[in-house]
Amino acid sequence: MNKISIHDEKKVKELLEQNWEKAFRYSQIENAIYKNFIQDFDEMNTLSKKIRDILKENCFFTSLTVDTVNTSENGQTTKLLFKTITWEYIESVIMRHLTGRVTLCISCQAGCPMACSFCATWKLWLLKNLSFNEIIEQVYFAAKLLNDEWNKLRNIVYMWMGEPMLNYDIVRDTINFVTEQKKFDLANRRITVSTCWIVPGIRKFTKDFPQTSLAISLHAPNDDIRKSIMPVDHTYPLVDLMKSLDDYVKETNKKVFYEYIMINWVNDHIKLAHELWKLLESKLAHVNFIPYNAWEWTSSDWFTTTPRFVIEKFQKILQHYWVVSTIRATMWDDIDAACWQLANKKK
Ligand code: SF4
Repeated sequence: MNKISIHDEKKVKELLEQNWEKAFRYSQIENAIYKNFIQDFDEMNTLSKKIRDILKENCFFTSLTVDTVNTSENGQTTKLLFKTITWEYIESVIMRHLTGRVTLCISCQAGCPMACSFCATWKLWLLKNLSFNEIIEQVYFAAKLLNDEWNKLRNIVYMWMGEPMLNYDIVRDTINFVTEQKKFDLANRRITVSTCWIVPGIRKFTKDFPQTSLAISLHAPNDDIRKSIMPVDHTYPLVDLMKSLDDYVKETNKKVFYEYIMINWVNDHIKLAHELWKLLESKLAHVNFIPYNAWEWTSSDWFTTTPRFVIEKFQKILQHYWVVSTIRATMWDDIDAACWQLANKKK
């Protein structure tokens, strides 16, 4: 018989039932795993020996193998490299902000088929959609690591390898899981799903998660530039995207986070700041400028980072029009964990 993931609540409960164990035993298991971070079934002292043996015989704790845990020199960022049982490498990144906020970025696919030209991940193409337990195991590993350093995981962003809307049902189930009080107890508003604007996915997301945050990889204020760097724009042009986002805001009254990667001479001409303002005029929006990180595997070797003073000028123009924005700090270059740089070297 194939073993079942300990994170598969339904199957673990069935297993207990088949062995004539009472349902409340599951709460004890939950408590041991998610509150006390006990990973060894033998050490779950609140359970009877019989249950521990049943779990040992029938369940596995993790299918991912930890390949590398790499922390940046300033200690703010930790990159976790995992290997799946089918030999794909996937990554997660923990970011410890100076404000005390801790965010975990997780992968929802191994590789990615979206082919954004500034991104290293798609060079792997799509290897597979990650399963429910492969996503939860990334969260668990990070939460345990933070717990060991007396820290607590408070924010999760679905924005590392892969496009969440292409693995929607699994992403949905994992959001429901991590927000459960007896699991990771994360507030819905502290979960962010970042998408490169797959419109039908945004509509489903609006319905399923009105409290969860939405980030859009925008990267250009017009279709011409967006098409040149993000092929998905051919299928879902700006007009469709903005309509679905207007509906999202109307439905949820939540602001949308717009990611804008700053690439020298590609999407950083000052006139585009005015176009961006026009696009976001009177919308509930927050723009996050991300300095481009040069990476050897991007298709356009000539992509370089926009100079800081240009990004600041861009930001000032938006400020002038009352559009809120931030410039993301690049705090993890020394471990190749910067955004869009996650085609793993192992592969
Ligand atoms: S930027 Fe995101 S959506 Fe685009 S190829 Fe990279 S991982 Fe995929």
